[in-house]
Amino acid sequence: MEQTPKSVQEQPRFVEEKERFGAKVREVFKSEPNSLQDEIEDIEYETGDGKITSIKSLLPREWKMVRSSFLGMDRPMVASFAEKTVAYGENYWIPKAFIVPKGEPLPEPVRREDFIREVFPGPRGVLELSSAPQIERNGFFISLLHEIGHSQVFENMSEEEQAKFLEHVSDLSNKRKSQYAEQDKKTEIENERKSWAWALKEFRQLKRGGVDLEPELDSPDKLLRGIHAALDTREDMNPVEFIKLVREALFQE
Ligand SMILES: [Zn+2]
Repeated sequence: MEQTPKSVQEQPRFVEEKERFGAKVREVFKSEPNSLQDEIEDIEYETGDGKITSIKSLLPREWKMVRSSFLGMDRPMVASFAEKTVAYGENYWIPKAFIVPKGEPLPEPVRREDFIREVFPGPRGVLELSSAPQIERNGFFISLLHEIGHSQVFENMSEEEQAKFLEHVSDLSNKRKSQYAEQDKKTEIENERKSWAWALKEFRQLKRGGVDLEPELDSPDKLLRGIHAALDTREDMNPVEFIKLVREALFQE
């Protein structure tokens, strides 16, 4: 029988492994995941040729990473400065819309363990919201790098700048985007720009070292679209408003 040191035996690893475009992605949890709010010990990204990258090591040391079921489709990923946490949703919501002819039955909503689909009938058609595991989708890692970028930009501020920035963030949390003052918008855009710059630099550096976090987004154009998808979900609105907006966009004449 194989002898394992007791200290190793006593430390079980809580891991969920997923295949993602030829790579293996392992979410390593601090404790057994209960799928509500699980702290991540690390995300290990293993390329096809066995190179393993620790994603958690890209975060500043005091920052935590969390997988959450509370994040909605309006904001599937977020960096929280006061809590020093980057959180990402377990599922990612994909809205679709279609028309069911009058008199025909509506499709049934489907629920499976790792996939949720909900169907909302409306006056001009059916809006379908489906979800898939967030970590497996295109654009997940470039979006995650962006949120990590926020943490890095914040940690590189002076103490005075940090205090000012936290005040700005807490002030904005009480406002809608339409209520932002010019200075608010400037600060937001500048912060977004710096965080994307950090993310893209890190992304390219990893790629040069043989670790491609987005193998399917293999042209600047596709990457840009992946980034756009991530940015679109960061609009300041609740799910009801989001559905309304998508519905309006989809059913436009
Ligand atoms: Zn951002």
